[in-house]
Amino acid sequence: MAGTQVAENPLLGPWDGPFRVPPFARIGSKDFRPAFEASLGQAKAEVAAIAENPQPPSFANTIVELERSGENLDKAASVFFNLVSTDADDELEALERDIAPVLSRHRSETFLNEKLFTRIRTLYEAREDLGLSPEETRLLERTYLNFIRAGAGLPAEKKARLAEIGEQLASLGAQFGQNVLADEKSWLMLLDAGDLDGLPASLVSSAARTAAERGHPGRYAITLLRSSIEPFLQFSARRDLRERAFRAWAARGENEGPTDNRAVAAQMVKLRAERAKLLGYDSFAHFRLADTMAKTPQAALELLESVWPPALRRAAQEEEALQALAAAEGGNFTIQPWDWRYYAEKQRKAQFDLDESELKPYLKLDAMVEAAFFAAERLFGLTFVERFDIPLYTKEARVFEVFREEKPVALFIGDYLARPSKRSGAWMSDFRTQHRLGEGQLPIIVNVMNFSPGGEGEPTLLSFDDARTLFHEFGHGLHGMLSDVTFPTLAGTNVARDFVEFPSQLYEHWLEQPELLRRYARHYATGEPIPEALIDKLIAARKFNQGFATLEYAASALVDLALHLDPNPEELDVVALERRELARLGMPGAVAMRHRTPHFQHIFSGESYSAGYYSYLWSEILDADGFEAFREAGDPFDPETARRLREHVYAAGDSADPEAAYAAFRGRAPTPEALLRKRGLDDAASDAA
Ligand SMILES: [Zn+2]
Repeated sequence: MAGTQVAENPLLGPWDGPFRVPPFARIGSKDFRPAFEASLGQAKAEVAAIAENPQPPSFANTIVELERSGENLDKAASVFFNLVSTDADDELEALERDIAPVLSRHRSETFLNEKLFTRIRTLYEAREDLGLSPEETRLLERTYLNFIRAGAGLPAEKKARLAEIGEQLASLGAQFGQNVLADEKSWLMLLDAGDLDGLPASLVSSAARTAAERGHPGRYAITLLRSSIEPFLQFSARRDLRERAFRAWAARGENEGPTDNRAVAAQMVKLRAERAKLLGYDSFAHFRLADTMAKTPQAALELLESVWPPALRRAAQEEEALQALAAAEGGNFTIQPWDWRYYAEKQRKAQFDLDESELKPYLKLDAMVEAAFFAAERLFGLTFVERFDIPLYTKEARVFEVFREEKPVALFIGDYLARPSKRSGAWMSDFRTQHRLGEGQLPIIVNVMNFSPGGEGEPTLLSFDDARTLFHEFGHGLHGMLSDVTFPTLAGTNVARDFVEFPSQLYEHWLEQPELLRRYARHYATGEPIPEALIDKLIAARKFNQGFATLEYAASALVDLALHLDPNPEELDVVALERRELARLGMPGAVAMRHRTPHFQHIFSGESYSAGYYSYLWSEILDADGFEAFREAGDPFDPETARRLREHVYAAGDSADPEAAYAAFRGRAPTPEALLRKRGLDDAASDAA
């Protein structure tokens, strides 16, 4: 009987082991499909019951019920998406392809349910008179906004047009990405042994491998993948080859013929503008930013334009130094974009060379995990107790019960080592989100990384970048673990795109505190603390070449906004717009955009960073300015500053507007000065360098 099978499905039955973790030992790959089917049916019935409720709408019978609906679907989906990334098999991967469109259809059906939306709108319009708490008001406003942005409340023909636009954008976005890939794949620069001047051994051997794979054994191939072209431009002493490679790289998506993306991008910009207009916004940029901390395109533009002049000044100094270096080598030419990386690398090596193998013995994985815990204890009063009685999906992960003021607040899983069934990269995720509805639930947070394990009997050692990644993901982890809100929609990392990297990037600052490094960065064999001179060099190297890095990034971010601010993008020529914008900005000829429009995948392959490429810099402003609060207090662990940080940022999720949350922590709005100092773009630092 189907009902019995569902009841016995370990994904859906009660989870009554320690800490009510998913019963991993009993879950098999074959359980997911029936669990999704049953729980999706249940979720649909729950949404229908809310929409059809004969009682007049109330916050409790509509908004709260909507929060509670789909609980089993959430359980199945969170276990599924975690396992498909960390411990996949063929069955899970096949299901992933099937389930994504089903889940997205369920979401849009919910958003376009008119009866449900009418109830929500009634409540929204009466929200001042409902006696709601600030968090309840926030949830009501967010829910209403999500429905509006999905097209709820529009007349049928406009809804139909929105759906059409959505489909066209999805297929154009896929085509855009495939065109870039095709251009990257079709271009190959074959070299002979005499063309390898300056290339490091690792690049030579991967170039040899690529050439052999492409049917040219005995030769060397450079491709347009970032992992091939970037080191080539950095190291190749052959100016003619650098120029050839750079020109091909910069022309991706702009090569005429079937892979040309200029018309695809123009069409996407046009459709996006039409969609924004249908939904009542001035432009697509206004539509996208209404849901962020920046709120308006003007705020994002102001940020980028405040950083632009100091970055221009710094880049001019950098260019002068590179020009001198080229002249000293007998080069009689003006620095071009294909020269910059090459001479910058030479200068970096002379000024800041760091030998990773010198650093690694001081950065033992287990000690760095302890260091991340130590900072969390000093800042937020968290303690971590390792548990050995909780079975997980792999024996390689470690699990900790997390306490605050002697009460359990979360379970933390650290899944740090690479294995074949795990996807590459590093991320934070959860198996369960914190909330206080009904009996409430504590979060189960996971950090996933891909460190190469030490050999038999040897400790796992990290590079400094690895250690920074560990702190970064742990910062996201704390955003989940410290979450203290009523509603799951507002919990933890469910915050605006330009705010979500703030808690993670901020946490990286504590890795660099001398007190912490003296204590935890000790040589694995001798126990000696890491030499301070090594740390100083590492931190100084961060400011190197930041004029260039800021310009190439900010130019792309500004073009992204300019494209999407156009209220009337008929007849749009994306390359002409790009040229106009760069001329207006005074972009130096020696620096190229990080992503030119015809291959700007962040904004055209999918939606996620469209009119949002600025977010990376926005978050960096917050982390630089935010950490300064501790400096001003004279103590990197200042208790009062840490209390405000926990209360208004790490614990608050999306229960308050991010701008207000930041101001409540910092006592004022963020300013870019700290970022300029961090990147060495402020005037004092440029004199010193
Ligand atoms: Zn992150």
